[in-house]
Amino acid sequence: MPSTALRICPLCEATCGLTLTVEGSRVTGARGDRDDVFSRGFICPKGASFAEADADPDRLKGPLVRKDGVLREATWDEAFDAVAAGLRPLIERYGAQAVGVVLGNPNVHTMAGGLYPPVLLGSLGTRNVFTASTVDQMPKHVSSGLLFGDAFAIPVPDLDRTDHLLLLGANPLDSNGSLCTAPDFPGKLKALRARGGTLTVVDPRRTRTAKLADRHLAIRPGTDALLLAAMTHVLFEEKLTDLGALEEQVEGVEDVREAVRHFTPDAVAAACDVPADTIRALARDLAAAPTAAVYARVGASTVAYGTLTNWLVDVLNVLTGNLDRPGGALFPLSATDREPRPAGPGKGFALGRWHSRVSRHPEAKGELPIAALAEEIDTPGDEAIRAVVAVAANPVLSAPDGDRLDKALASLDFMVSVDPYLNETSCHAHVILPPPPPSQSPHFDFAFNGFAVRNQVRYTRAALPLADGRMPETEILARLVLAGSGMHGADPAAVDTMVIDRTLGKAVTEPHSAVYGRDPKELAALLTGDSGPERRLDLMLRLGPYGDGFGGRGDGAVGLTLDRLLDRPHGIDLGPLQSRLPQVLKTRSGRVELFPAPIADDLPRLTDALRATPDELVLVGRRHLRSNNSWMHNVRTLTGGSNRCTLHVHPEDAARAGLENGGHARVQAAGGSLVVPVEVTDAVRPGVVSLPHGWGHDRPGTRLAVAAENPGANVNQLLDGTLLDPLSGTAVLNGFPVSLTALTDLAPTATR
Ligand code: SF4
Repeated sequence: MPSTALRICPLCEATCGLTLTVEGSRVTGARGDRDDVFSRGFICPKGASFAEADADPDRLKGPLVRKDGVLREATWDEAFDAVAAGLRPLIERYGAQAVGVVLGNPNVHTMAGGLYPPVLLGSLGTRNVFTASTVDQMPKHVSSGLLFGDAFAIPVPDLDRTDHLLLLGANPLDSNGSLCTAPDFPGKLKALRARGGTLTVVDPRRTRTAKLADRHLAIRPGTDALLLAAMTHVLFEEKLTDLGALEEQVEGVEDVREAVRHFTPDAVAAACDVPADTIRALARDLAAAPTAAVYARVGASTVAYGTLTNWLVDVLNVLTGNLDRPGGALFPLSATDREPRPAGPGKGFALGRWHSRVSRHPEAKGELPIAALAEEIDTPGDEAIRAVVAVAANPVLSAPDGDRLDKALASLDFMVSVDPYLNETSCHAHVILPPPPPSQSPHFDFAFNGFAVRNQVRYTRAALPLADGRMPETEILARLVLAGSGMHGADPAAVDTMVIDRTLGKAVTEPHSAVYGRDPKELAALLTGDSGPERRLDLMLRLGPYGDGFGGRGDGAVGLTLDRLLDRPHGIDLGPLQSRLPQVLKTRSGRVELFPAPIADDLPRLTDALRATPDELVLVGRRHLRSNNSWMHNVRTLTGGSNRCTLHVHPEDAARAGLENGGHARVQAAGGSLVVPVEVTDAVRPGVVSLPHGWGHDRPGTRLAVAAENPGANVNQLLDGTLLDPLSGTAVLNGFPVSLTALTDLAPTATR
């Protein structure tokens, strides 16, 4: 008889609750969990394919260790012996900087990825840290760091209550949202319109989201910052600013007024290709709406002015009084957030505390641009990276110039990958440590609850017992910590014990803490859970804002503990988002610093953009509902149909280049060229072509049978890695110049 098990979906940021069908030792189906307190039964095609993704026969079943140049099956002990033998001598000889750590996007979709990477980085002591953030969201982190003093204080649009939503470079009908965790994002947009609210979408493509909108502006890619600067100008010019309750909490308003003085709608209209009157109307509508939120994502972030764009998003939210008020943009309060401290000045946020070795890129949030990883490896020098620890990372496909990185990784003295697949990056590793499939892992969203449009907390234990020969991902990462820090062979539980002791030891010294003055050992003994990771989760929940404070919380607290959460398998609703200023601020002033110095220093670049001649043809990416970066291309039910790596070309551009629907084009850019099938469509504006990312599964040495059948082309191969948003180090993946050549000697391909 089949049984069921609950599992939070890890396949995108929406974190939907799933009800899995279990038959024997396999998951055979997935449907939306109607009783899930957050997702209420919503599911998308990716979630519905959970069983197939989980049972993918290409998933590695045990560790691989390179012997005589060939990756061979090995025991876990052999694998960790090889890790320790590979890493430690390099660290001892060349120092901590000889190791580069690369953390991929799936890290934030696993419980292990939420708990262990900080410990790993602390134990290795390297500053050569690269993550998916610098091909994605780093501009938002930097903007928030500068404005609010905390790179993780990211306001999200209050989708369920807002009257007016302005989306830039975001396509949640296909992505299901990002840095805004909202199961059934599409349904929330439809509900917004049904209750009389308005939706404006700014996007060079007529996406599915744009089709739903009241107004769609097909802006020229990369010019969102100009548009937002002009809207800010209009707010000042027409005396439409109204900070409301924020008035006393914000400094720098007059500086912003001065800074945007020359960004008039008429001045930016040509660059943006948006009429000046439309820009004025956007600003007036934003100011007039009872509540409103501005929200920008990947298409407006992975551009040359990514941080400026994200800064202006929140400038507009502030100037219209919409930051931190219901219906506007609010700061979530996650159950595992650190215990709220009293409001007041904080340490602030610093950029450029160190720089990359070769190109001197400044760090941001402790990270260096992933676009610089290849040169940090292949440029000789005493502090060159000689070993890489990659956790759930596939930068050969996700970072600029995969060919160079491919060669650089192949030249390393040592590389270890924690990865379920033998993919384009892990194929270079000397050791691969595969985590178990999602059905065999517990799940808690440490990251995404902090970006959720409603406060809630859910935890699902593993749906299936661990299969023979598998090791929990938490233990894999704990052992990796030990192997890299000279403690190879120690009990991995020691890592969790160390974190618990350290956390409690600090908490009891903080006067605002519910456990101030208590005995850490006594508190540690109170923790529950059937494993070290669960005890750590219990610790975070109990010390968090809804926690029981180990009995030290007064009235009003939810009294959250792991046991209480386990009693509520569909989760606990913690209510709509609330105003959180000024407590959330960690700036040195204790206020929102609306015009921080790094922004002021970067603004002249935006002024220069007013005078720049637009490129004739630029490329942007796109998402598909049945894809997520490079992850889902090996799941047969999600491939094919419209989910293909084709180049969208506007009919006018196609005619100019002599391209036909189903034909092939050579796309040329600064970093190289690609041959791709062409889809002629007016869903892109003239002067823009679109190619999805995460493709290019045709490299040798991988084991991704389904993906290899339709490998697609790696769009990042068009980049040479030099084009970055300077404040955040984020690669410019959208709006870079390309040229097209028709290839008439290749057979046509089928198009939709
Ligand atoms: S929307 Fe995201 S979280 Fe929800 S079912 Fe689909 S992939 Fe999973």
